[in-house]
Amino acid sequence: MNRPLKVIIVGAGIGGLTAAVVLQKIGYFVEVYEQAPTLRTVGSGLSVMSNAVAALSSIGINLKLEHFGAPIKYFEIRNVKDRLIRRLPIPEISFSNGFDSVCISRKALQEALLQQLDKNIIHVGAKVTNIIEKDDGVSVHFSDGRETHGDLLIGADGIYSFVRDYIQGNKPIRPAHYICWLAITRYQHPQITPGYVGHYWGAGKRIGLIDIGGGEVYWWGTANMQTEQSLKWKGNNRDILSYYKGWPAIVSDIILQTPSENIITVPAQDRPFSPLWGKGRITLLGDAAHPMLTSLGQGAGMAIEDAAILGHVLRQQLDPISALRQYEKIRIPRAEMLVNASRMLSETEQDDRTFHCLIRDLSLRFMPMIKLRKNLEKSLNFSTGNFDIHADTSLNSSQ
Ligand SMILES: Cc1cc2nc3c(=O)[nH]c(=O)nc-3n(C[C@H](O)[C@H](O)[C@H](O)COP(=O)(O)OP(=O)(O)OC[C@H]3O[C@@H](n4cnc5c(N)ncnc54)[C@H](O)[C@@H]3O)c2cc1C
Repeated sequence: MNRPLKVIIVGAGIGGLTAAVVLQKIGYFVEVYEQAPTLRTVGSGLSVMSNAVAALSSIGINLKLEHFGAPIKYFEIRNVKDRLIRRLPIPEISFSNGFDSVCISRKALQEALLQQLDKNIIHVGAKVTNIIEKDDGVSVHFSDGRETHGDLLIGADGIYSFVRDYIQGNKPIRPAHYICWLAITRYQHPQITPGYVGHYWGAGKRIGLIDIGGGEVYWWGTANMQTEQSLKWKGNNRDILSYYKGWPAIVSDIILQTPSENIITVPAQDRPFSPLWGKGRITLLGDAAHPMLTSLGQGAGMAIEDAAILGHVLRQQLDPISALRQYEKIRIPRAEMLVNASRMLSETEQDDRTFHCLIRDLSLRFMPMIKLRKNLEKSLNFSTGNFDIHADTSLNSSQ
């Protein structure tokens, strides 16, 4: 084939933008379609763990995230009495992988990705409403009457993915029955040193405090709550604080110092894992393929890994349709493992039974270091299964 193949990416979230960067780099003609009228530049924070940074590096991409966010230097879990339960060796494991795990604002991550892209390829206000497969490609129709045609279609359109529904049929979301409050605020406290991550575990409630650099702290809180109730949540920072009575002073301090209008609320939810990601010229990526709960902080990381592996297989496989199936085969076991592990960890973390919470805290406190490291390494190490990314020799030397 003489002309570059054209890939249509639906969704300009972290997954869609990363896929665009990767596919553009390997010579594909890329178009990204986003339903929002502008690229979303608000939002809270994220962790981009070392596995995701390693995945990008494997394909010759360095987003220089350490300049946009804060590399994790210290990661601890405390109880509500402010006693240390355990320090997690996340910085050490990341360091031994050769890449930092970085905490960053969603906006900064988006900017890092956009800096790598030709902006003309992104089309906003484009909500996909129909997909038509043809012998020579795939056509996508938008709610405003627009239409485009490409060789491949990547559904990176998030947990409510239209493309996923097209592949799998409409299936219900799986609620986790707790609410998440998220915010970024300017905040100083001696506890929050550069690269600090601290989680507080209570009964059916948690709080995370995370340095993201530039004097800003990303915090998130959770509390057990039925999804219908969390969808209707209209409370302010004082209402949130009422869930954390008696917690350490830093918790109430940061919540009260955050303007209520800066706090985002989302119900915790994922989907039961499905291995059906694509057919023909279509595949899924990121939350569209494998939405997961946030306990491992790997949702965006997995979208980034997906994009990197997609790039590798498309470079190595001459037939692009076979490449999509190969991409799915490589990614499905790892994505399934992380969806299930996040769910399990989340259930333990959100347990509201006092005795179970005590067992939970003691288990973490006394877990042998070798076991703790092994558990963490499962997600923090970038895994490609049997697929040999080193076959892409020209990419590895292009850094
Ligand atoms: C509370 C919370 C905390 C989190 N913390 C972390 C963390 O610390 N670390 C981490 O790695 N991950 C974290 N995540 C998960 C992470 O945010 C997601 O996994 C990640 O953003 C998924 O990216 P995505 O691009 O696949 O999907 P999205 O970010 O959802 O992007 C999908 C895009 O597709 C667009 N779209 C949808 N439908 C259509 C359509 N029909 N036509 C056109 N466009 C469409 C949407 O507007 C959206 O812009 C967290 C998530 C939550 C909810």
